[in-house]
Amino acid sequence: MSEDITFRAALNNLVPYEPGKPISEVKDELKLDDVIKLASNEYAYPPFDAAREAIIESISELNRYPDGSCAILKEKLSKILQFPKENIAIGNGSNEIIRIIAMSMVEPEDEVIMATPSFIIYPTVTKLMGGICKEVSLKNFRHDLTAMLGKVTDRTRIVFICNPNNPTGTIVYRDEVDAFLQELPGHVLPVFDEAYFEFVEDKNFPDGLDYFRQGRQVAVLRTFSKIYSLAGCRIGYCVAPKEVVEAINKVRDPFNVNVLAQTAAAVSLDYQDEVEKRKTLNSESKRYLYQELEKLSISYVPSESNFIFVNVKENSRDIFGRLLREGVIVRSGDIFGPEYSTYIRVTIGNPEENERFIRSLAKVLKK
Ligand SMILES: *Cc1c(COP(=O)(O)O)cnc(C)c1O
Repeated sequence: MSEDITFRAALNNLVPYEPGKPISEVKDELKLDDVIKLASNEYAYPPFDAAREAIIESISELNRYPDGSCAILKEKLSKILQFPKENIAIGNGSNEIIRIIAMSMVEPEDEVIMATPSFIIYPTVTKLMGGICKEVSLKNFRHDLTAMLGKVTDRTRIVFICNPNNPTGTIVYRDEVDAFLQELPGHVLPVFDEAYFEFVEDKNFPDGLDYFRQGRQVAVLRTFSKIYSLAGCRIGYCVAPKEVVEAINKVRDPFNVNVLAQTAAAVSLDYQDEVEKRKTLNSESKRYLYQELEKLSISYVPSESNFIFVNVKENSRDIFGRLLREGVIVRSGDIFGPEYSTYIRVTIGNPEENERFIRSLAKVLKK
């Protein structure tokens, strides 16, 4: 390769994202026929039938560019959420929106506050822009909003609050967020990443949109990748002040959300009853896993999402590898920092997958 070309200095601080291992790769590498993936917090079942049908129907439109403004989907979201379309941005996954917000707001040396461990994309996009990550350790597996507030300076642009938090599944409560927002200076945009919003059971969970309704400057991210089972389509959205949405529209690709994703997402919104059922199903599976883990005397962090942070009390890499040989893909906690090197993160699957996970875990832990 040419030695003359150079890359932005910011890239020296970045490494490519390492996704959960794909099923096909594990099958090939370990010569296994039957592999289950509980590593990326995808929903355990396929998309709604109506979304599948809408996708099939849209295939014949693929010679055309998508609607760059996502008008139909925005219209629907606007009705359901009761916000004007001017406050809604649609992204090629909420990951894209996170990156575009950083691209719109973070100058080199600007600061972005985030919890650690939390969603790995927040530090990635901050560093991409040459910004400085102010990472605040979780306290008891939860965001420490007081400590995060303590990190605010004149150079702070954004604070990311992942609620529920990935990888711990924990939430920050309404009274905590109320107090936090009361003190947060106006030049800082709080971004609530609510990718797992639909799974939350705790009544003290603050819906980020309520703050927006109260006229506060907040951005709220939601996605179709989790409970709507459309992770492979890549589509998410953001509700934010008009100025933030305008900035996103300046920075994003003209046709950032593909035709299939737009139709599938719009149709899926018609199935709120099904979403409720999925939530119940997830809760039932969660309780099953809690109960089985308790029987095996394995501790875990209670979760408000569709994944559980489990303390296997052994080297997480080893356990990850041994589970892999059983055909069960999870996430090893060591990637979240040395304090978590005995944890694994497991996505709640369908009942059969959950049983298999428990059986395999008991086997590899010799319980
Ligand atoms: C899964 C996840 C998302 C969703 O990202 P998409 O790009 O919409 O698939 C966003 N935030 C967090 C914290 C997640 O875990």
